Amino acid sequence: MRNKKTVEKHPIHVKSGDKVVITSGKDKGKVSSVKKVITSENKVIVEGANIVTKAQKAQGGNQGGLIKTEAAMDSSKVMLYCSACEKATRIKYDVIDNKKVRVCKKCGERID
Ligand SMILES: [Zn+2]
Repeated sequence: MRNKKTVEKHPIHVKSGDKVVITSGKDKGKVSSVKKVITSENKVIVEGANIVTKAQKAQGGNQGGLIKTEAAMDSSKVMLYCSACEKATRIKYDVIDNKKVRVCKKCGERID
């Protein structure tokens, strides 16, 4: 178990499974899903984006070699994608059935 930091970090605006648009870098404009959120580093891993080649050691029955994998990227480089607007959007919070949910700021489509 890691100790919780006393400094409150700004929460990442996306979570695992969210559809996002990449707003900068070589994958700019790409729409994909968030595979993983690394809160402690304020980074996200997006499926098929920011691909890097890594050397992998032989392990079990697998041969070692070069593998392509997604590298984490700064969470500021992705924006939530609204499937109703068909573009990147900003979100706002709404309360539905006493639950805080994220909705598209433009069209009101529920994201959660
Ligand atoms: Zn929308």
